[in-house]
Amino acid sequence: MAELAKATALILKTIKLKESDLIVTALTREAGRLSFLAKGARGGRSRFSAALGLLSLSELVYYDRRQLKLLSQADLLQSYPKLKRNYEHLQLAFRAARLLLKLLPEGGGDRASFELCAELLAYLDGQPLPAGSLARGELAFKLKLARVLGVAPRLDRCAGCGAPLNRPIHFSVARGGVIGPECQGRPPQGTPLAPGEAKGLQMALLLPFDKLERLKLPAQLVAQAQTMIERFLAYHLRPL
Ligand SMILES: [Zn+2]
Repeated sequence: MAELAKATALILKTIKLKESDLIVTALTREAGRLSFLAKGARGGRSRFSAALGLLSLSELVYYDRRQLKLLSQADLLQSYPKLKRNYEHLQLAFRAARLLLKLLPEGGGDRASFELCAELLAYLDGQPLPAGSLARGELAFKLKLARVLGVAPRLDRCAGCGAPLNRPIHFSVARGGVIGPECQGRPPQGTPLAPGEAKGLQMALLLPFDKLERLKLPAQLVAQAQTMIERFLAYHLRPL
């Protein structure tokens, strides 16, 4: 019999299997993304109860097999009730979960990505936030995710030569961040950005979620940067 192991986990996805079983995909503090087989999880008197609800924080005990891990026990630690009562907050949390599932292979991610995801859910489990704050929070999550996965975009200096940013610059996905005119190719590559805008994105990367209110990022820049950073993540984390 395989050994029992324990993990603190954020439940990201569940798939129904047969009559009463579930395949549960979670981001764990101990071992990154893991999938589990939860037998009898959908029965009326399931011993797992609410602990396998989407976007719940739970403690899992499982048999650490090489194939699909078999869940033995699940206890709910935090269900983020305020987040789940707010449609916009919930949608953002689902988008974050989908992004993690898209970027992380089984076993991918580590303690830092778990902590980041838990911080986002805790931030969303509070007072209702206006649309502007939610957009900033989502952008900050993507930037921080790039950092914890080891591919943070360079935003404080030229990604090509390290020179300070004080002239018209571009954000280049392939070059790994902002580049100054001295490192620009012909024709110019990337998305035009002002040095002040790059600094704003750098601050969004560094500030904790509850301090993002201080940032004056124009809504248009936030919207543009959302897709830019998502492309950046997909490019730098694509399977080899
Ligand atoms: Zn340069």
